Amino acid sequence: MKPIEIHMFPCLRDNYGFLLHDAEAGVTAAVDTPEVGPILAALEDKGWRLTHILNTHHHHDHAGGNLAVKEATGCRIIGPRADAARIPGIDTEVGEGDEFLLGGHTVRVHDTPGHTRGHVVYHLPEDGVAFVGDTLFVMGCGRLFEGTPAQMWSSLQKLMSWPDDTRVYCAHEYTQDNARFALTVEPGNDALSRRARDVDKLRAANVPTIPTTMGIEKATNPFLRPMSDEIRRTVGLAGPSTAEAGLVEVFARTRALKDQF
Ligand code: ZN
Ligand code: FE
Repeated sequence: MKPIEIHMFPCLRDNYGFLLHDAEAGVTAAVDTPEVGPILAALEDKGWRLTHILNTHHHHDHAGGNLAVKEATGCRIIGPRADAARIPGIDTEVGEGDEFLLGGHTVRVHDTPGHTRGHVVYHLPEDGVAFVGDTLFVMGCGRLFEGTPAQMWSSLQKLMSWPDDTRVYCAHEYTQDNARFALTVEPGNDALSRRARDVDKLRAANVPTIPTTMGIEKATNPFLRPMSDEIRRTVGLAGPSTAEAGLVEVFARTRALKDQF
């Protein structure tokens, strides 16, 4: 089977929109609806007919265009069961462990509460790609608006269990800011310094830093690295203990530092 076709385009100030396309099946899905105009323009551009919206969470820059896009295309809306009441126009509710077919492509759903109560991510294991909304960013993670650090850490661990070469599509271009913060908590991480320099070059040329991979994130993203001795020293939790409670605490303190950065 051909890999699913992915078209990514900028929306709003720093969001990305995504279209997934299976030509054989005549199926096209938009991941979230940050902005109606660019989504409809991208569909027109590609000559694709929208059949699905896959919502990650209820925030306006992710579900705000749902009704207008549905009205314009007649698509079906799939979104998080845990937040169905806040997803405009939702037709199908999904949650942890659910699988469905997008054309010929398996999509696996995970609940990733933390940023919002009902956040989900969509993983296409056979294609080696995932759409993670505002759960994970390049060298960052979503703010904890509606969840606890323990919830978010457990959500991020689900992503960390994916193969390292999984290509991860985050919903925002926050990468340069995230890199600057990451360097303050783990300045001795050489992979991080190199990545920060690469990212500056990409952004200077106005090139997106997305997708990333889980392997790169595990090596450079401070929110996936509470086991790092340097990060533990930075947040004042150095010591031999790597018990699970300890990792959550390191994650929580790292997130708190970022909130003030
Ligand atoms: Zn959000
Ligand atoms: Fe967002």
